[in-house]
Amino acid sequence: MRRFTKALTGLAALCIVLSFTASESAENRTPNNSDETADVVIVGAGVSGEMAALELKAQNPNIKLVLLEKQATTGGSLRYSSGYIGTSSKLSRKSFNTNTVDDVLAFLDNCIGKENVNHAFVRRLYDLSEYVTDNFITWGVDFDGANATRAQDPHQERWTREGRQLWYYMPAGRTNAIANVLEDQLKKQKVDLRLNARVTDLIIADGKVLSVKVQTKDKSYTINTKAVLLATGGFSSKGDLVKKMTAGMYKNVPTGPNPYASNPGATGDIFGLVEKLGVPTIGTGVMAYAGSLGGGSIPSRFYVNQDGKRYMDEYSWGYNITFQTQKNTTNCYRLLDTTVLNGQSAGAKASVAAKVKAGTVTKYNSIDELAKGLSINAAQLKQTIAAYNAAVDAGQSPEFGLPAGKATPIKDGPFYAEQIAYTTAGSLVSIKTDDNARVVTGNLQPVRGLYASGECAISNQFWGGLYAGSGFGVGSSAYNGVLAARTIVSDLK
Ligand SMILES: Cc1cc2nc3c(=O)[nH]c(=O)nc-3n(C[C@H](O)[C@H](O)[C@H](O)COP(=O)(O)OP(=O)(O)OC[C@H]3O[C@@H](n4cnc5c(N)ncnc54)[C@H](O)[C@@H]3O)c2cc1C
Repeated sequence: MRRFTKALTGLAALCIVLSFTASESAENRTPNNSDETADVVIVGAGVSGEMAALELKAQNPNIKLVLLEKQATTGGSLRYSSGYIGTSSKLSRKSFNTNTVDDVLAFLDNCIGKENVNHAFVRRLYDLSEYVTDNFITWGVDFDGANATRAQDPHQERWTREGRQLWYYMPAGRTNAIANVLEDQLKKQKVDLRLNARVTDLIIADGKVLSVKVQTKDKSYTINTKAVLLATGGFSSKGDLVKKMTAGMYKNVPTGPNPYASNPGATGDIFGLVEKLGVPTIGTGVMAYAGSLGGGSIPSRFYVNQDGKRYMDEYSWGYNITFQTQKNTTNCYRLLDTTVLNGQSAGAKASVAAKVKAGTVTKYNSIDELAKGLSINAAQLKQTIAAYNAAVDAGQSPEFGLPAGKATPIKDGPFYAEQIAYTTAGSLVSIKTDDNARVVTGNLQPVRGLYASGECAISNQFWGGLYAGSGFGVGSSAYNGVLAARTIVSDLK
C-alpha cells in the first residue's frame, strides 16, 4: 500500500512537471503539494546563487536543484552595480589590462591592512575568476567596449601616488548585461527557478539540514533536501541592521531607507535563518562611500573633524577619503570659502546654493560662527586653517600630501560647511563559513548540508569595517558561488 501511495505521489509529481509550459511564469511553477524533495536548494538568485546553480548544473546536469528568490526578478544587487574585480581571463588576454591574484591581495593589504584579510580564502576565490569571466564571455557578455576595463580609480595620478592599481572589469551595459546573461543561462540549463518564493526557515536536526520552508504569495511548502546554499546577500536596505552592525564605528551612517538606489532584497535574512544554530556573525561595517546627506558634495579639499583637525589628503581617491573619514570617531565636515566657490562653474555654484536651501549645507559669516554652530574646537580650527593657507600661499603642499595646486584655501567668508555622511552599497558583516563555503558553528564545526556564499559570507574574505573599493562585491560573490557549488558536489558524493 505504502509503495502504491509512493508511486501515486511520484506520478502526481510527474504530472505537475509535465504540465509546466514554456509560457508559464517561474512563479507559477511552484508545486501545489506541500512537500517535495531536491538534492540542493539555493536561497537567493543574485550573482552568487545564480553562479552556484549554473556550476551545479555544469558539474551534474541531472542534479535536482531548486533556486528560490523572494523578489520578482533575478540578479539582486548585480543589477545595481557597474563592474567587478577579476583576474586574467580571455578578456585580459585580448587587452593589456590584467590583474593577478597577487595584485588583488596586495591591493587589499594596502587598503585595509594585511591583518584584516584571509589570504588563503581570497586566493581560493580569485583563482576562480578566470573561469567565471570566461564563462561570462562565452555566454555573451561583451567586455570589448571602449570602457571595458578601467583603473580601479579613474584618477591615475592620485592612484600612482598611493599604491597599486587594479583593473576593474565593466561590461558593455554594465552588470545588468551579466544579470541578463545569467538569467538566460538559467533558462537554457533548465534550472528550476522560483521567483517570489521566500525561504522563511531551515529545518535542522542533529547538526544536519533537512529541509527549507518556502512562502509564496498564496501558499507555503517545504522542500526536503540534502544541501542548502544560502546566497541571500547583505542588509544594506535595512536601516536598523545597518545601524546595529556599524554601531560605534562610523558617524552618520544613514539609518532610514537606503538613500542609495539599492537592492530592496538586501534585508539580512541570513541572520534570522541561522539564528538558532549558533553560527557566528563576523565582521563589521558596510560598503560605504563618503558622500553627504543630500547626495554629491561641495567642491572642497579642506576636511576637518570635530577637533578642528584635518586628517588626510583630500585629493586622494574616493575610498581613501572614505577610510580616513570612517576612522574618525567624531563627525567630519567639508569646508568651503566664497572665493573658491566663486571660481567654480555655474552648475557647481547652483548645486551649492541648492544644498544651502535644502539645509544640507550651512552658510556661516565667520569661522567663529561656523565653529560654534558645528561644535568644532574653534582655536584648533583656526590654527589648522592658518597652517593650510600658509602652505598653499608658499606653493607648498599642506600636511598629508595634498598637492598645493589642488587645495581650496579657507580665507573669505561667508563660509560653507557640509557634514560627511555615507552612502551604503552593501554590507561587510556576514556569517562564518570555512574556506570551502561550509557554514560553521562557534566551535568551527560545519553544519552538515549548509553552505553560504556571496555577500552574506563576505567577511570571511576581509573584515575590519573598511571596504577596499567598488568591485569587490560582484566578482567575489560569483567566485564564492562556484566554490560553494563545487564543495556541495564533493560533499554529496
Ligand atoms: C547600489 C549598489 C551598487 C553596487 N556597486 C557595485 C559595483 O560596482 N561593483 C561591485 O563589485 N559590487 C557592487 N555592489 C555590491 C554587489 O552588487 C554585491 O555585493 C553582490 O552583487 C552580492 O551578490 P549576492 O548574490 O551575494 O547577493 P544579492 O545580489 O543581494 O542577492 C541575494 C538575493 O537573495 C534574495 N533573498 C534574500 N533573502 C531571501 C530569502 N529569505 N528567500 C529567498 N530569496 C532571498 C534577494 O532578494 C537577492 O535577490 C553594489 C551594490 C549596490 C546595492
